[in-house]
Amino acid sequence: MSNAAVTIPVGGPSLPQERRLVTAIPGPRSQELLERKSTAVAAGVGHTAPIAAVAAGGGVVVDADGNSLIDLGSGIAVTTVGNAHPKVVEAVQHAVAQFTHTCFMVSPYESYVAVAEALNRLTPGSFAKKSALFNSGAEAVENAVKIARKHTGRQAVVAFDHAYHGRTNLTMALTAKAMPYKSGFGPFAAEVYRAPMSYPYRDGLTGPEAAERAIAMIEKQIGADNVAAVLIEPIQGEGGFIVPADGFLNALVDWCRANGVVFIADEVQTGFARTGAMFACEGFGIEPDLITTAKGIAGGLPLSAVTGRAEIMDASHSGGLGGTYGGNPIACAAALAAIDVFENEGLAARAAHIGEILLGRLHEMQAADPRVGDVRGRGAMVAAEFVDPTTGEPDAALASAIAKECIAQGVIVLTCGTYGNVIRFLPPLSIDDALLSEGLDQVAAALAAR
Ligand SMILES: *Cc1c(COP(=O)(O)O)cnc(C)c1O
Repeated sequence: MSNAAVTIPVGGPSLPQERRLVTAIPGPRSQELLERKSTAVAAGVGHTAPIAAVAAGGGVVVDADGNSLIDLGSGIAVTTVGNAHPKVVEAVQHAVAQFTHTCFMVSPYESYVAVAEALNRLTPGSFAKKSALFNSGAEAVENAVKIARKHTGRQAVVAFDHAYHGRTNLTMALTAKAMPYKSGFGPFAAEVYRAPMSYPYRDGLTGPEAAERAIAMIEKQIGADNVAAVLIEPIQGEGGFIVPADGFLNALVDWCRANGVVFIADEVQTGFARTGAMFACEGFGIEPDLITTAKGIAGGLPLSAVTGRAEIMDASHSGGLGGTYGGNPIACAAALAAIDVFENEGLAARAAHIGEILLGRLHEMQAADPRVGDVRGRGAMVAAEFVDPTTGEPDAALASAIAKECIAQGVIVLTCGTYGNVIRFLPPLSIDDALLSEGLDQVAAALAAR
């Protein structure tokens, strides 16, 4: 380990909002941690940026060597309000000094109920709603499926091509991509069926045409009477930031209503102002029966929820839903603070503004370079899909080379997509315009250099 003193700064928005490289990435201190990681941590737990993070806030992540990296990933759409947001920090500090846990199923407390009330109020749909809280996105999805099955008395669940719903056994079955999420980890849960997604760039279908294709498959191969739930990300996340064609989701919702099927929107990645609205469903004019949320909900603390129609949410017998830690009081306090920021600090408008910058710059790159096959997204959830311009085939090597070079130059970007050829941008909404532009300059430079 190098002996030069590195002062570890306090995180949050007061961190200098700058890209600053004082060593190569990884620097010696980060390198040392990564060596310990490879010895102590299971190999299956990978990492994207080879750094040891010590502080973050605004639009930067600072590492143990004193490098300050521009954050265009928000820890996968989690720190949407900004890392170590002062309101979240204060709420957590207050809550942790009161009590750390009682188990809501043993001794209930107010913050859990207040989060449920906020979710019931904020999620799309003016009908009576109820919520239940859990720890992770996968756990929320599992519970939404449990609830839909109990409510309908049916078993089949429809998920889509390119879907990502988590890494537990049921959610692996719901997730489409084998590598790295499923390979070797079976057998998978039964009664999960996969329908074709609307992917305008690759299938050229209108929304109604793509819905007809999916519904035909469901009716022929499963039978409407057997379907408990249709589960879909309104904009797919890990699958490649795929925005379905207009009318696709609406037609699926209509079909669900006509057939007594529960429509579940998985908004774990798209929720909480990310797409320029509080929830992505709003942008498509749909009201899901159930909605799953997590990631951005609590400013970085682990919390998730299922929210939906009261009569569906109430289908389970008492004791059928829950868990030791679900709706932990520290996480609930953080969520109430984050929700206050989402509602009262104009974050949906901020996401829309960030989206204009992202789309503008990426469309410029696309106009100048045919390897940028598609640029898509809504609000601060935007991606570029890289292809071989002669064949249109996915170019995963190019996407991964650009991402690697950006990280080496101090800009954290993430890849995604079934074919691994998509770079996704989901910056914290606390990033300033100048830093965002500097990050995008780096992406353009890395593309031009390949
Ligand atoms: C991340 C994600 C999940 C899984 O959430 P975890 O908290 O990692 O379990 C589920 N659905 C979507 C859409 C996601 O993006």
